[in-house]
Amino acid sequence: MGKRKSSSRKPMGPKRADPLPTTFTCLFCNHEKSVTVKLDRRAGVGQLDCRICGQKFQCAVNYLSAAVDVYGEWVDAAEAVAKQDAGDGHGNAAKAYGARRPLEGKNTIDEHEESEQHDDY
Ligand SMILES: [Zn+2]
Repeated sequence: MGKRKSSSRKPMGPKRADPLPTTFTCLFCNHEKSVTVKLDRRAGVGQLDCRICGQKFQCAVNYLSAAVDVYGEWVDAAEAVAKQDAGDGHGNAAKAYGARRPLEGKNTIDEHEESEQHDDY
């Protein structure tokens, strides 16, 4: 029961200009560092995915966004869904917000069927 003096000792050594974290704990499977965030600032899209459970998320990012912001969005989204689902009994949060909107347009198929055989021999 000896309380040591080293309250917060990090095994990481001296603090350097380490890169911003891009791996996080998964909200769904709770694996540490299983979630990888990718930022595509040019496209304005941030994505993350869990390599353990395959959870995916996308959100808009801006020039100032960091990986942790995408993660934060994900947390918010997951919480929002969890709340919605809470009233619904045993919902699968993962499914709900992974749903995509169908692509719009192209609801008329105006391709000619293969009845276009000219026989101008
Ligand atoms: Zn996971």
